[in-house]
Amino acid sequence: MSDQQPPAVPDTCRNNSPLTDSPLPDKSRSVQDSIVAARVRLERALADAGRAPDDAWLLAVGKKKPPAVLEKAFEAGQRHFGENYLQEALEKQVALNHLTSICWHYIGAIQSNKTRDIAEHFDWVHTVDRIKIARRLSDARPADRGPLNICLQVNISHEPAKAGVEPEALEALAREVLKLPGLRLRGLMALPAPSDDPTAQRRPFADMKALLRTLSERHPEAVLDTLSMGMSGDLEAAVAEGATVVRLGTALFGSRS
Ligand SMILES: *Cc1c(COP(=O)(O)O)cnc(C)c1O
Repeated sequence: MSDQQPPAVPDTCRNNSPLTDSPLPDKSRSVQDSIVAARVRLERALADAGRAPDDAWLLAVGKKKPPAVLEKAFEAGQRHFGENYLQEALEKQVALNHLTSICWHYIGAIQSNKTRDIAEHFDWVHTVDRIKIARRLSDARPADRGPLNICLQVNISHEPAKAGVEPEALEALAREVLKLPGLRLRGLMALPAPSDDPTAQRRPFADMKALLRTLSERHPEAVLDTLSMGMSGDLEAAVAEGATVVRLGTALFGSRS
C-alpha cells in the first residue's frame, strides 16, 4: 500500500441510513437489492421474535470484496462495515477515505503486534478474548477518538482451538476490561459451530443471551447493549435469541472464492 495513512474515522458512528429511493447506477443494482433484501429479512426476523424493527442492525462483512463493492453498499445506506484482515482493511479505508460517515468494525483474529493499527483505525472491535490484547488496545487508543467499542468474543460452542474466552472465564475478563480507560465494553460476540438445524442453531445463541444478562446484572455501571451474533446462515436463530448486530457477508456480497 502507499504511504498514505488510512483516514481517521469519526468517533461516533451513525446508524445505517434509511433506504433511498434515488435511482442508482445499474452496476449498483445487485448490491443494493441484496441490502434491501437483508434489511427485509432482518425486520421479518425481529417481528417474528416480537422485537422492535430497530432492535438490531446489519454489519456488512466485506472480507475479500473490493472497495468498489463496499461503496455500492454505502450508496444504498449501509454505514457499518466489518473486516477480518487488517492489511486488507487498511487499504480499503484509504480507498474509501471520501466516505466520511462510514463506521469500521474489526472482526478478525488479533495479533498483539497489530493492536496499534486496530486501535487507531477502527470504531469497534468484536474479537477481544484476552486481557493482554485488551490492555494493548486501550493503551494505543488515541485520546481524541474516544474509547474504542469492544465486544468480548466467547467460545460458546466450547470448540478446541477456537478463538474466544471460555464462558467460565468471561466474568473475570470483563471485570478487567471494564477498568481500561481506552475501551468501552459494549457486549459479547459469538461465532458458534455451524449447524443447518434451526433448533440446534438457537442453543448457543440462547447461552450468549444468558451470559450477557448475568454480566449486566453484575456490572450495572456498564452499558452492555450489544450481542454480535448471527451470519448469513443463522440470522433468524440469532435474532430470535436477542442478537443486536448481525454480521452478513455472503448474503450481501455473494460467496467468497
Ligand atoms: C465472514 C464472517 C462473517 C460473515 O459470514 P457470512 O456467512 O458470509 O455471512 C461474520 N462474522 C465473522 C467473524 C466472519 O469472519
